[in-house]
Amino acid sequence: MKSKKGSLEVVAGCMFSGKTEELMRLVRRAEYAKQSVITIKHRIDNRVHTACINSHAGRVLVASAADDVASLRAAIPQNIEVVAIDEVQFFPAEIFTVIEELVDRGVRVIAAGLDTDFRGQPFGVMPQLMTYADHVHKLSAICMQCGKDARWTQRLVNGKPADWNDPLIMVGAEDAYEARCRTCFSINKPVTLHGQTNRTA
Ligand SMILES: [Zn+2]
Repeated sequence: MKSKKGSLEVVAGCMFSGKTEELMRLVRRAEYAKQSVITIKHRIDNRVHTACINSHAGRVLVASAADDVASLRAAIPQNIEVVAIDEVQFFPAEIFTVIEELVDRGVRVIAAGLDTDFRGQPFGVMPQLMTYADHVHKLSAICMQCGKDARWTQRLVNGKPADWNDPLIMVGAEDAYEARCRTCFSINKPVTLHGQTNRTA
């Protein structure tokens, strides 16, 4: 008899769309049903202390911080039923292999992450995960400029829309983020003669 496979659910959206809250809701549902759950969060998020998970709503749950694939594999118990991963877009591409392995051995994986970066481009492993997923929960926020449905994360550096070529961390600059709709989202996307984006990552 074939062993039963697990599943992958992806919670995708921009900042302020409630991704972490949705992930935590799904985690709590599983915990009510006495399923074994581990929540993993990338350490890059400095809102949290190691081993805690913290959403904008202030909910804290125990998590294992893991910043590379080897430590991630080691953090996942063999007999786990549900693996929840927050800020999955920050993990290296090999996270996909780990998730694939978990799903193949029967684990239900729920991964939440930003689907686009501040340039409005696909973020890390997210497009691959959204393709592989059984279900994608695509969340939106409210545009902080006009109040419409927002799917983009606007980065502001010293109060102005960030430049396409800005590094992710700018020393001495004040970074802020807003949820914005497609109309209000602003980035100086470089376009080549052939109309293709000139990506300077
Ligand atoms: Zn707007």
